[in-house]
Formats: sequence, C-alpha cells, structure tokens
Amino acid sequence: MSALLTFTCSCCGKTHEGSPSFSCKSPHYYDQLSDEDKTRIAILQDDMCVIGIDENSDFFVRTILEVPIHGVAEPFMWGVWVSLSQANFKRYMSTWDNHDETDNYFGWFSNRLPHYPDTLSLKTSVRPRNGGLRPLLVLEESDHPLAVHFHQGISVGEAQQIAERVMHPE
Ligand SMILES: [Zn+2]
Repeated sequence: MSALLTFTCSCCGKTHEGSPSFSCKSPHYYDQLSDEDKTRIAILQDDMCVIGIDENSDFFVRTILEVPIHGVAEPFMWGVWVSLSQANFKRYMSTWDNHDETDNYFGWFSNRLPHYPDTLSLKTSVRPRNGGLRPLLVLEESDHPLAVHFHQGISVGEAQQIAERVMHPE
C-alpha cells in the first residue's frame, strides 16, 4: 500500500500530491439564502450553522466523510454539512469535546458534491469525536454512487477523476 496518492493532472498538467481533501464552507441551504437573510436569520461558524429564528430552525454540523482509496493509506476526504434534529444538535453542542464517542446522530446530507448525482438528503449517521476532531460521517447503504464509494472504496483512477473535477470545475 503506498502512503500517498500522486498523479499528473489531465486538466492542468501539474502533479497533485496527497489524497484529495475538499471542504464545503457552508450547508447548501445557507448558500441559497440572500445576503440579507444570511445576516438576519442565519448563524454560520466553523463547525455549526443554524438557519431560522424560531422553532422551525434548521440545525447543521460540519463533518468529515472519508472515502477509502484502494491501495492508498489516506482516504479521499470531504468536509460536508448535515442537518440534525434540534434535540440532537443541542446534545452535540452541549457535549463539545466531551462527547460520548459511542453516540451517533441521524443526519440529512446537506451539500451537493461535484461529480456525483444529487447528494442532498442522503441519510447519514454522525459519529462525534473528541480531541478537536470533526465528527465522522457514515452514509446509509444505498445504490447512490457516493454511498457505494463510501462503503466499497474507489480506485486510484476514480479518485484522480473526482479530484480533477473538483479542482477544475470548468
Ligand atoms: Zn490539476
């Protein structure tokens, strides 16, 4: 097993080193808000986001989705947001850095990832971690390509193809 994924990019011709890691800065639903609503009804921080000002608010946490790459030690990492119920969000925030690591919270996938068919509302489970680590995301098994990749892993070639698509969207 080689430690690093290294490939010559078919888009820009450069050598990209290391397993790819891409992050969504905010939930898809936050991106959809007007600039006015982003300041008026939403809170966005590094690890959490709340949209709404009443009991109908939506609660989001930032997580890490690790997709194994066959033959490579480091996974393909996505920083993505999922929505939690209010009760689970409160528990998650109130146990910050003192999580029961056997906990898991049901979450709805809340980003659209490049390369894949629509990933919004995939069913997930959030596994909190202590020590300043973002929670790991587990996707429910389904025939969605992202769920298949999560459970079965991807080849080096697929990892390269997805990374090229993300780094060079045009
Ligand atoms: Zn490139």
